[in-house]
Amino acid sequence: MSESDKRFPLPLSSVVEAPPRGANGRKQPVIRIATPQTATQNAVLNLKRELSQPKTAPRPVTASATAAVASVPRTAPMVSGAVRAAMVARLVKQGIQDKKVLAAMEAVPRHMFIEPGLASQAYIDASLPIGHHQTISQPYIVARMIEVLRAGPNGGKLDKVLEIGTGCGYQAAVLSLVAKDVFSIERIKGLHELAKGNLRPLRIANIRLQYGDGMLGLPQVAPFDGIILAAAGLEVPQALLDQLSIGGRLVAPVGDRHQVLHLVERVSKFEWTNTKLEDCHFVPLRPGVV
Ligand code: SAH
Repeated sequence: MSESDKRFPLPLSSVVEAPPRGANGRKQPVIRIATPQTATQNAVLNLKRELSQPKTAPRPVTASATAAVASVPRTAPMVSGAVRAAMVARLVKQGIQDKKVLAAMEAVPRHMFIEPGLASQAYIDASLPIGHHQTISQPYIVARMIEVLRAGPNGGKLDKVLEIGTGCGYQAAVLSLVAKDVFSIERIKGLHELAKGNLRPLRIANIRLQYGDGMLGLPQVAPFDGIILAAAGLEVPQALLDQLSIGGRLVAPVGDRHQVLHLVERVSKFEWTNTKLEDCHFVPLRPGVV
């Protein structure tokens, strides 16, 4: 049992998104986990809530800041600074403590990884659709996985990190601020191209994107001090365990309908330890490329 178990399920103190209230003035239920299926529904629901807020009602400062993000071009990331600061404040409430991770989350313009129509929702604590039936992970889980990766024996120092599941490239961008070199593999060509396009204007020099089956890892680059899987398999592929350096850490969602975040640490050439951290929900890890 890890200390994170005590923190789950997490309170969603939605700073960016004003808590929706029904006609009776009661809070409406907040959606906590978005699956690929529910992510689209969440996006639509959130948009409807925003649109249904009476124009004359006083809106919290953060909500207007969110609206500002939606109305600015994706190439003007500075405007979203206040909204990102609010997102980081929420991450702290949710239990993220690593200052370097929090700084990285504050620095990366998440709205630039999301299609313009959904950009106003970029900083809420939900996964959102990115096309091809895939989702960008919710901010909490992105921060949590990277925090766990950094809590290894090297005092947070990460040289080579591998991500399986580039998606839109957001998590790779966050990783690039805490690791020397980031390698990220995506099996869907369209998403590999999307990530390239999203990352290009940010000019991040230490990310290498690879189109391929991440279940095989990148043996030519291994060993890695850290490996993150952004998609859930029934087990962690042995190839990835083999590509961890000794003392290295791998964080991965494992499971089918019920998924649990696992931390695997390589303690010697033939020895790995496994710790279950908390429940989570990710898109499935699939073999091959499309
Ligand atoms: N880190 C991403 C999350 C993307 S969702 C982000 O920040 O947006 C997970 C991604 O994993 C999907 O794009 C999916 O296509 C990809 N994926 C699933 N199985 C994979 C595999 N075997 N190799 C590489 N990518 C895979």
